[in-house]
Amino acid sequence: MKIAVIGTGYVGLVSGTCFADSGNEVTCVDINAEKIAALSQGEVPIYEPGLEEMVSYNVSAGRLKFTTDLPAAVATADVIFLAVGTPQDDDGSADLSALWAVIESVAPHLRDDAVVVTKSTVPVGTCARAFSQLKELTGRDCHMASNPEFLKEGAAIDDFEKPDRVVVGVRTKHAETVLRQLYEPFLRTEKPFLVMTPESAEMTKYVANALLSTKISFINEMANLCEKMGGDINDVRRGIGHDSRIGFAFLFPGVGYGGSCFPKDVRALVAMAEEHGVAPEILRAVDQVNEQQKQVMIEKIKEHFNGNLSGKTIAIWGLAFKPRTDDIREAPALVLIDYLLEQGATVQVHDPEAMPNVRQQYGDKLQYCDRQMQALKDADALAIMTEWRDYHRPDWEAMLASLRSPTIFDGRNLFDTVRMQERGFCYHSIGRPAV
Ligand code: NAD
Repeated sequence: MKIAVIGTGYVGLVSGTCFADSGNEVTCVDINAEKIAALSQGEVPIYEPGLEEMVSYNVSAGRLKFTTDLPAAVATADVIFLAVGTPQDDDGSADLSALWAVIESVAPHLRDDAVVVTKSTVPVGTCARAFSQLKELTGRDCHMASNPEFLKEGAAIDDFEKPDRVVVGVRTKHAETVLRQLYEPFLRTEKPFLVMTPESAEMTKYVANALLSTKISFINEMANLCEKMGGDINDVRRGIGHDSRIGFAFLFPGVGYGGSCFPKDVRALVAMAEEHGVAPEILRAVDQVNEQQKQVMIEKIKEHFNGNLSGKTIAIWGLAFKPRTDDIREAPALVLIDYLLEQGATVQVHDPEAMPNVRQQYGDKLQYCDRQMQALKDADALAIMTEWRDYHRPDWEAMLASLRSPTIFDGRNLFDTVRMQERGFCYHSIGRPAV
């Protein structure tokens, strides 16, 4: 099939590349000419494990192209995926301006039988509105579908190629048939291809992200209670996780969720509910608890240093909002960095992939360290904000030798508290007694 993917970000680039890899002819389109020029030179502008090799393989095979020429890409396409960003607007709702701009640009070039698919996360009713918009612009009924994406950054290729399920919202048999054929190679292990209305498909995406966010905020609140009342959240986690009704997934306490999806999608669902006169009590609390959780490390550090951080040096391991990505959108580490800088501390940072993005935002306000141990040199404490594998088994002797004071604030509970005490560290973590 001939596919055009409009919007070549995390989702568009991964989807386009995976569709090319399964034998389709894919053109990825973006308005960012710099990004397209880089991709055309074989440079992948984001870090996603395995992506660079896969892009290069499919470009060489002639199945994957990059362009800013939207009309040409759309004119020949059987399927057009819309994968532009839908960021948070000032009032919390999803900003769909990029999507509507694309619908307008796509309309004059669509083939009669082309299927236009919203892959971006969009509010319930957007697909129907896009259908009406296209009808107005083309004078005919176009084939529209909603196909929300569930991939996780850091494991995006695997998630795309081996999805737990594919959700499609359609109103025409033709759209269903085309998408079913397209996804067949990814569903060979009999994972379901779930057909529903576009509204249900759109809602499914928000409900999935809202529930995952709820689990995170829930366990964070329980961790905070453990700290106050006694108890170790890790023991509690084990105690509940073995209950087959509960399980372990997404019940790791930490420094709050970040990224380009959970925060904005929870808020967009709040905005949608309010628009319909419904009070979204749980969703509001999930967001609020998460915002508070991003302050937890700050509170611990503040208390430890008696509120005086001026002239102190703090090391931070992990800047990305999660491991195996360079994405720093809404990353909890940035909240801590802002606080430390405001207090007059020197901040020495390390992240295996996200430092270029952080440097773009903070310039020379931070000390960037290529090696994790380098960040600890003469630091008064280390804060761990992202659970990169690199940080799980550090050289304890080297750490003790580098840090000015052997103090660790672990926002990801990477280490055993008793052993940290034995190793000679002053160790603070989440929902467990400080030692
Ligand atoms: P992104 O910001 O990485 O990429 C969006 C791309 O769209 C950018 O390259 C931008 O230049 C391009 N763009 C904007 N306006 C355009 C236009 N008019 N024409 C062509 N290109 C245009 O965003 P993303 O993280 O890939 O997310 C895209 C959508 O997918 C969002 O709705 C997001 O909520 C959803 N989503 C994201 C993830 C994720 O993990 N990142 C997962 C599932 C769903």
